[in-house]
Amino acid sequence: MSTLIPCPTVESLDAILPEEPLLMMGAGPVPIPAAVAKANTIVINHLGATMVKVIGQVKTMARYVFQTNSKWVLGVAGPGSAAMEMAISNLAWNGTRVLAIKNGFFSERMAEMGRRVGANVSMLDVPDGEVASLEQVADAMRRERPEIVTIVQGETSNTVWNHHLKDIAALAKAAGALVIVDAVCTLSTMPLEMDAWGIDAVITGGQKGLSSIPGVSLIAFSDAAWARVKGRTQSNAHWCLDASLAENFWHNAGYHYTAPVSGVLALHEALRLVCAETLEKRFARHLKCSVALQEGVTSMGLKLYAPPACRLNSVVGIEVPSGLNPGDICGHISRQHQVEISGSFGLPIVRIGQMGEQCREHNLFRTLHALGRTMVDLGVAIDLPAGVAALEKSLSNGSRIAARAAA
Ligand SMILES: *Cc1c(COP(=O)(O)O)cnc(C)c1O
Repeated sequence: MSTLIPCPTVESLDAILPEEPLLMMGAGPVPIPAAVAKANTIVINHLGATMVKVIGQVKTMARYVFQTNSKWVLGVAGPGSAAMEMAISNLAWNGTRVLAIKNGFFSERMAEMGRRVGANVSMLDVPDGEVASLEQVADAMRRERPEIVTIVQGETSNTVWNHHLKDIAALAKAAGALVIVDAVCTLSTMPLEMDAWGIDAVITGGQKGLSSIPGVSLIAFSDAAWARVKGRTQSNAHWCLDASLAENFWHNAGYHYTAPVSGVLALHEALRLVCAETLEKRFARHLKCSVALQEGVTSMGLKLYAPPACRLNSVVGIEVPSGLNPGDICGHISRQHQVEISGSFGLPIVRIGQMGEQCREHNLFRTLHALGRTMVDLGVAIDLPAGVAALEKSLSNGSRIAARAAA
């Protein structure tokens, strides 16, 4: 008789998790609203009339958030990177000419996924803290004649915003290329109009701007992109991410794989809250909060990493004062103040997110205070009261501007 491998002894979650949950103010995942948390506790049949209704509403709401009338909206069981891989692996294959506009870590990931499906990937390598100009993109397109252009709207890693996105998409369209946009950290936090801007695939994750749970993502394809998916002659090496198979579940009430039903319900609620707020109000809330946070940080005496012209609002990058490293700051603020913020893949910055539920005034005050105290504790000469005063001033100015606009 064989002996079983002995049963392990582990701690319960109650023993592992802090008594008071940490305030998640990093580059994602972000706090989730109560309705999202509640939906995430429910399991229903992954097929059948109720699920069909839920899926129908998720697609309808997602079309509003993506600003598209395209039929081809699908969910993905997986992180934002799975949605990214779904876009790349369905639209590119052996020999496809892909132009990847690389601004940092996540736009490089799209290029890597292109190489992995055998595409012929050329890079437009943009230095840190800059965005590709229209001239650079036009040159690269003349040189490489891409069938597909990939670009990130907000490069979370170095907090740069590709503010020429609309014009770059138009250039690509004019040259006959399809455009794939990574909007993981930006969707529902700032304008993105998939149809009006002529974008062919937009991807997003759950755990950032949408304030849903991590692990369930969304993708939208234009009609032109969908025609390319349907017209491909090389089979897709991915099975779970095959858009034609996913169509069975997301459009034909059939089976592909068992959908993450709780996560889909959570996403439904997150999207419903976006619709209840409306995109216009949501963008205004994000802008007001992010600008106020930035003013608070700089008034305290700290420096922002990205230059103003291409600074991303969804994630704010702050230079680490000399003598410290990002880990010191993130560790201290988490232990002493129960606030989580992020470092960034080797860059000398810490990052505070302004996505979804992170953009609430009480979260800003707590986070800015915790950041300031952390700096003081770590021996950095900053002016904490000046920072908090600037935050308050900017928020109340922002409210006055919003009230005037509404009147
Ligand atoms: C977070 C992020 C991703 C990756 O999302 P995961 O859910 O971690 O896979 C991709 N692109 C951008 C711009 C992001 O911010």
